[in-house]
Amino acid sequence: MICAKCGKELERGYPVCLNCGQRWEVQEGEEEEKREIKQYNKNKNKINIVVLVIAVVLVLALFMFPMVMTFMGLRQMAETYESLQSISGGM
Ligand SMILES: [Zn+2]
Repeated sequence: MICAKCGKELERGYPVCLNCGQRWEVQEGEEEEKREIKQYNKNKNKINIVVLVIAVVLVLALFMFPMVMTFMGLRQMAETYESLQSISGGM
């Protein structure tokens, strides 16, 4: 885009001409672009929440699984120990 006052190339993202200071109207296309970026950011936030939930579930599963396994393993170990004791005759 070119400044209507001085004819210089306008910088994107600035609401005024950097050469002469003339304010210029933001074109509709750029507004649309901004809205699209906002929508994109919203979608990105939604995805982040989903990723966060999945991560929390995974972490919980990772913590719970060894605990359950340890509990079951301890029971099995205790049973094995008892049967070993009965075989050896209580040493
Ligand atoms: Zn200008």
